[in-house]
Amino acid sequence: MTNYRDFHRRSIDHPEDFWREEARRIHWETPFDKVLDTSNPPFARWFVGGRTNLCHNAVDRHLVERAQQNALIYVSTETGIERRYTYAELYAEINRMAAVMRSLGVKRGERVLIYLPMIPEAVFAMLACARLGAIHSVVFGGFAAPNLAARIDDAKPVLIVTADAGARGGKVIDYTPLVDEALARAQHKTAQVLLIDRQLAPERLNASYLVNYEPLREQFFDAHVPCEWLESNEPSYVLYTSGTTGRPKGVQRDVGGYAVALAASMEYIFEGRAGDTMFTASDIGWVVGHSYIIYAPLLAGLTTVMYEGTPIRPDGGIWWRLVEQYKINLMFTAPTALRVLKKQDPALLKKSDLSSLRTLFLAGEPLDEPTASWITGALGKPVVDNYWQTETGWPMLAIQRGVEALPPKLGSPGVPAYGYDLTLRNEANGEPCAPGEKGVLTLGYPLPPGCMSTVWGDDQRFIDTYWSSVPGQAVYSTFDWGIQDDDGYVTILGRTDDVINVAGHRLGTREIEEALSSHAAVAEVAVVGVADPVKGQAALAFVVLRDAERYASDKARAKLSTELTATVDRQLGAIARPAHVHVVSMLPKTRSGKLLRRAIAALAEGREPGDLPTIEDPAALVQVREALAAASGKA
Ligand code: AMP
Repeated sequence: MTNYRDFHRRSIDHPEDFWREEARRIHWETPFDKVLDTSNPPFARWFVGGRTNLCHNAVDRHLVERAQQNALIYVSTETGIERRYTYAELYAEINRMAAVMRSLGVKRGERVLIYLPMIPEAVFAMLACARLGAIHSVVFGGFAAPNLAARIDDAKPVLIVTADAGARGGKVIDYTPLVDEALARAQHKTAQVLLIDRQLAPERLNASYLVNYEPLREQFFDAHVPCEWLESNEPSYVLYTSGTTGRPKGVQRDVGGYAVALAASMEYIFEGRAGDTMFTASDIGWVVGHSYIIYAPLLAGLTTVMYEGTPIRPDGGIWWRLVEQYKINLMFTAPTALRVLKKQDPALLKKSDLSSLRTLFLAGEPLDEPTASWITGALGKPVVDNYWQTETGWPMLAIQRGVEALPPKLGSPGVPAYGYDLTLRNEANGEPCAPGEKGVLTLGYPLPPGCMSTVWGDDQRFIDTYWSSVPGQAVYSTFDWGIQDDDGYVTILGRTDDVINVAGHRLGTREIEEALSSHAAVAEVAVVGVADPVKGQAALAFVVLRDAERYASDKARAKLSTELTATVDRQLGAIARPAHVHVVSMLPKTRSGKLLRRAIAALAEGREPGDLPTIEDPAALVQVREALAAASGKA
């Protein structure tokens, strides 16, 4: 029996031996010369000189043993469509897509931006990119046109793959007008646009630049496109994530390290075996979708279930019925979804036969104790919280049941995963914290395989953002607070920066502030995250108006509030919409002009903001207090 402590220790003390063994999990067309290159810190290169391909490892390799096993089961409760693809069928679809992309000029190293809803073609497109050695950049379908334009300008894709529409909660969301607007806004004009026509949008755009996928798919129906063998450190994808500035960062990932890390995590963390069925309820636009809807389950020879819909339509029992129907063994979602289900009719869970389910995994946001206790009791199966971020690609903290089934502790996602040299450090002096002392979660150099290699197109930003924030230490900052107990279990206490987490979605408060500031009525704005019983956190906005007189009446205020939320919807998408916009005549700031966001958030959560010796004018806090009281009086 392996014991966790020794296993973790070995991964840190002897990373080359440790990861050399793990690298056997994947096919290397050309073996690597060197496990790890640390000649240029903080950059690390894994499996240097090795040549491999993510699509080959995820699909082609399984054709010998599991060609007739389902690789992908697609279920949409929005359209009522169910489709199943065996590994052989998935292989064929990816080859068609790859041939179409190739015919449109996509080559190794070029970017393909994927702006798609949860449809199987999204999986084909991502894996077709991997096959061709092209770099995919998936943009979450809920993002609005300006967001999409910023990503087009940063990634400079040769091709954009989109659909006529997405659907959520019974509502059709037209995509083509958003793509049209994004292209008009973007500086980068040379991308072609491939359209997957679901025939959902009644008034879909018919612009001449849209190339329809279906006839091309027919044309390349029998295509076989060889895999490009990429050097392990070539980029596989770029996934944008929010930070403290309004400019999103492109998290760049490699090929070989990512494949090895995900394959290993399927055994040590997820205990997934070839032939199992895994249902990850996330979106392909997020890192959980990349890693655990697509790459990891397929790399390990599982069947992956892809779901379009909400957890409560047609009713709150739908996910449990999926477990019964498809004999799902592993399920992965975010705590928000469970809080939603708990509020519905928790008894629905008992109506389905859940005997196939072995473990439920949760990540993306803190798992509160009431939710953890409820779901653990209701399921009677292990519930495994795991903590990570877009940048790491796979869990940093978890009970690694495939190594040793340590007992879980409520409120903690567990202990550091193998490969991660995780230390909590004092924010002021960078020294390691004593057990029980609050600190910033940091990772030592090098980051393990699978983690981001750099910020797309901006190595300096990778160094400046992630490796330069802890005083006196060349360590990676996660920008999360935590506390570690004597047994090594870490509890996450929230972000150290201005990033908030709404329903498991990471949002920069700065992005929302910038969107609101673009409205002519707004002079100044502060956005904070406050505790929300269902979504974990909600965004609240406090605005100072240029001409308060104009909006003095209730009617004018209500109209303004609608306009402001619509501005956020238009610029960022509805997921970033503040729960409430409060009007104040000044914002609490330090004498040097820094917004006191933590003080505002404290007041909004009914806590005292504590001593604020540097505050410019305490009257601003009174204003915030009054605005909150007035709003709760109206509610
Ligand atoms: P993202 O990059 O969108 O996946 O968001 C990552 C952030 O979500 C982390 O930096 C944490 O703040 C938060 N997070 C993710 N997983 C957990 C978890 N299991 N417990 C607490 N916070 C989490």
